[in-house]
Amino acid sequence: MPENEKYSVKKIFDIAYAHRLLNYKGKCENLHGHNGKIEIKIESANLDEEEMVADFNEIKEKAGKWLNDNLDHKTILCQKDPLVVLFKNTNQKLFLTEKNPTAEILCKIIYDNISALGLKVKSVKFWETETSAASYKKS
Ligand SMILES: [Zn+2]
Repeated sequence: MPENEKYSVKKIFDIAYAHRLLNYKGKCENLHGHNGKIEIKIESANLDEEEMVADFNEIKEKAGKWLNDNLDHKTILCQKDPLVVLFKNTNQKLFLTEKNPTAEILCKIIYDNISALGLKVKSVKFWETETSAASYKKS
C-alpha cells in the first residue's frame, strides 16, 4: 500500500454533563450544563483481517462505555473547586479533573483514557455546543 494512504473511521457519542470553570470571569464560572458531542477518530494505514480499521461495535463497547461510566450525566469539576467538598456529601456523581474542565482538557482526558483501552485513537473532537468544538491529537 502506498505510504500516503490511510483509512479512518469515526464514531460520535453524545453526553450530558454539568461543569464550571475556576478562576474564570464570565458566565462559565457558574455551574451550568451542556449536551456535548464527542467525535472519536481512529486511523490506520492497514486494515485488519476483517477489512476494518476498527469494529464500530468495539468502539462503542470501549469508548461508549467509558464515556457513559465516567462523563455522561456527571458533574465535571476541577479537583481544586470548592464545590467538590459540597458534592461529596451527596449522591451526585462527580468526575474530577486536575485542570479546569474546558472542552480542550476534556478532549485530552478522553483521548488518553480511550487510547488506554486499546483503540488506535487519532483524534478526539469535543463539541461543547453546536457551534463550538475543541480537538486534541498527538502528532
Ligand atoms: Zn460550559
